[in-house]
Amino acid sequence: MIKLEKISKKYIISKSETTLALDDVSLTLPDRGLVFVLGKSGSGKSTLLNIIGGLDNPTSGDVFVDGNHINKLKEDELSDYCNNYLGFIFQDYFLLDNLTVYDNVKLALSLKDNVDDKLIDETLEKVGILEFKNRLPKNMSGGQKQRIVIARSIIKNPHILLCDEPTGNLDSATAKSILEILKNLSKNILVVIVSHNVDDAYKYADRIIEISDGRIINDTKIDNNEEIYIVKDQTLYLNSVNALSEEQIADINKSIASGEVKNIASRSSLFKKTEEVEKEMKNVTFERKKMPFKEQLSLSVRLSKRKIIPTLIVSIISAFLAVILGLAEAFTMFSFKTLMANSLKDQDKPALVMKKGFFDEEDNSKIKDNALVRVDAEDIETFESVNKNGEYYLLNNFNLPINFERYELAVELSINDSRNLSNFYLQETYGTVVTKESFLKKIYPDYEVIAGDINDKDYGLIITDYIADAMMLYNPYVFTKYEDIIGVYKMKSQDVLGYVNAIISTNYKERHKELIDMVYQVVNGDMTYKELVRTPEYLDFFEEVRSYLGVTYSFKENFLDEVRKEEVRQYARFDRANIVIPNMDNRAIWLSSYYVYGPSTYDLDFEIPERTFVLSLSEFNTMLNASYTMEEIDDLNIGHIAIARKAAYREATTTIFYEVVNLMIKESNDFAAIVSEDLFAELREKDTFNFAIYSTDHTVALDVYEKLSSRAFYAVSSYVSAVIAVNEVVTVFKDFFALVVIVLLITLISLLAVSAYISINSSKKQIGVLKALGMKNSTVSLLFIYQIILMSLVSIATFVAGIFIFRNVANNILFDSFLEFIKNPALRFIHILEVNPIIIISNILIIIVVYALTVLIPFLFMKRLKSLNIIRRGE
Ligand code: ADP
Ligand code: MG
Repeated sequence: MIKLEKISKKYIISKSETTLALDDVSLTLPDRGLVFVLGKSGSGKSTLLNIIGGLDNPTSGDVFVDGNHINKLKEDELSDYCNNYLGFIFQDYFLLDNLTVYDNVKLALSLKDNVDDKLIDETLEKVGILEFKNRLPKNMSGGQKQRIVIARSIIKNPHILLCDEPTGNLDSATAKSILEILKNLSKNILVVIVSHNVDDAYKYADRIIEISDGRIINDTKIDNNEEIYIVKDQTLYLNSVNALSEEQIADINKSIASGEVKNIASRSSLFKKTEEVEKEMKNVTFERKKMPFKEQLSLSVRLSKRKIIPTLIVSIISAFLAVILGLAEAFTMFSFKTLMANSLKDQDKPALVMKKGFFDEEDNSKIKDNALVRVDAEDIETFESVNKNGEYYLLNNFNLPINFERYELAVELSINDSRNLSNFYLQETYGTVVTKESFLKKIYPDYEVIAGDINDKDYGLIITDYIADAMMLYNPYVFTKYEDIIGVYKMKSQDVLGYVNAIISTNYKERHKELIDMVYQVVNGDMTYKELVRTPEYLDFFEEVRSYLGVTYSFKENFLDEVRKEEVRQYARFDRANIVIPNMDNRAIWLSSYYVYGPSTYDLDFEIPERTFVLSLSEFNTMLNASYTMEEIDDLNIGHIAIARKAAYREATTTIFYEVVNLMIKESNDFAAIVSEDLFAELREKDTFNFAIYSTDHTVALDVYEKLSSRAFYAVSSYVSAVIAVNEVVTVFKDFFALVVIVLLITLISLLAVSAYISINSSKKQIGVLKALGMKNSTVSLLFIYQIILMSLVSIATFVAGIFIFRNVANNILFDSFLEFIKNPALRFIHILEVNPIIIISNILIIIVVYALTVLIPFLFMKRLKSLNIIRRGE
């Protein structure tokens, strides 16, 4: 039983205008039977039906249905009512445009978890649209749509069937068949039909309620509506004109002609007023049914069918935005430390070599490396304070000249002479590490002694096969086999330059086979030098030579002392000490290519006073910026001129000056500075310094690097110097990219939000309809959550794939452009833009959160609204 108590419904049209669609309506409806609600358009019929159906709330009053207070039901209970108790034939159809006829009808069953394909077909047949079952509603006429709605509502076998103008758009034959169906149903359930068709009402109704201006003006019960007309006391009581058959019309006409009927009476006089009998209301709990998961998914897909292309486009665009955003973020999040750590790790070398330089006087942040500076006790202390686990070794300033003719240090290994392989080899070694065998084993695990004896002399060196090969290349007549190199190593002038204990194999030719092939390609003109130096093979080799291959080794702790004792000059670097001499204007001249020799080098015909330099004529002229001849010098009589000399091996801030008390010019020998014996010894003592540190602990390499760089150390590594150079450039652009990040972030969020909002807005009708059909809020939300998940997944997948692809593209672009400024091929191995997990996760979260919020927030608002209101908002 349905009971309406004092129902009023007021619509607020504007601030000053309201419509009272229902005005204090009270009404009781039975459990079964066919009730017609008649009234003119705008009289409030639909409003009444919608309130009974729970689609809309009354402004005041109460609705009870079988013991349930409908306008006070909880959301889910209301869904149960709409889904499992009620059928509703909507005047506006409320079909889901994306679903076929069949699927629209099926929806009613799947909501009850009761899909039965045969039943659907039968029902479609019943309403006469089986042949159109695969069409979309938009391709159907009004009448056909109405039949879909009827099928959808009757298929679920409701207890109450509310029909709002169910035959309004149908031709009379179909209308008749539909009404017949409804009449038939009403034997068991309550069918309420809203209509303005008086004839239909009188033909089929058990009860007719007439409303006008929101009020019930008539409520009559038809006693015997089997009899369409009755003749009584010469009066014809006519029920419905339309319902009369040809035969009956003929009969009536006959009666009128024969005078049997003299009057035609008001039909309503035949009907009794409905008595408002207060029966006891039965108490029903509405069934609860859940739409199966599979059906939810398939519905979700079907509902989003037409949105799928725009959704994909938006998802992909936002993914690309996210990619650019991610790259910009990577730029802003660029971390010198991380990059440095990765770079060190990538090198996978057993040691980090840190060389000591000095800070540029003008720009204190720059470390200059063209002076050779001693590693002092404080440096070692600093180093030890960080380097907890690794060993360290000092690289000593003993260089073995490889080429007798040119024994200056080749500053950099460069294969720039394309005619031959000669520049593939160094012309001088990079110093001597006094280390342990175990360290060498770390670098060259499989090394073997291929000539000589490692333990031969304590002042003897161990050299690599690479150095030995270079020696043989440059001195083909002196050395023809490895054994020739072993022992005393002398210059033509009989100076002992070193002593070679042994040669070890490093297998460098095998390991750098590809590079050697490429060098020959350069020689043949198949490859340019520029291309060659950008190859990883070149860089690898370059690094190895500088750090390991081009270095000489000793395992003797007393090596330094023994070298001095034996007068074996392992060609220490002081021979090219940079000397600063103030000229006459008291301005310093830096003679960087000075060669300092001890007195033994020159057969001097005079005694050199203590702590004295002797310069050649040309050096003297250079120094004084003059052009004296030998005779003029003699005339100058400058023996008493005191000239200060500043040694280049400045020990931090201490600058040592040596007084030159006598100046002797001899010949026009243009390359040597000759020093007195004691000065030579002093210089030598000073200059056999350690100038680099080998650190074997890579885990703290970065800390070592940081600590030591504050003491003017720099890493002997192209990788590291590339990282430093990159850091300088990136720092300049960081702020700019932060701005880019903000702009992109706003753009991305707006795009996602707007697209999600549009998507939801265009789905409002769907949402309202689904709720009207009895779908629970949570299920409706789920349908859209599936769509969000789909959108998010597409976005996220595109984003993740994109960021990895574009990271490489971006890094390559950065590499090419940076290479113009920073001519360091090691850039190739630096991933300037490192996509760290934070970037990926945060952007994925942004995508998910924005999608979720923009979809779920409107949902939260809609949750409180009645389905009709949602539909109205969506239209
Ligand atoms: P019927 O179905 O009998 O044609 P309705 O129940 O649809 O009438 O409407 C009753 C009255 O309420 C009409 O005056 C109509 O204009 C008004 N009305 C119906 N729905 C709304 C609405 N959403 N907003 C404002 N007025 C409405
Ligand atoms: Mg209406």
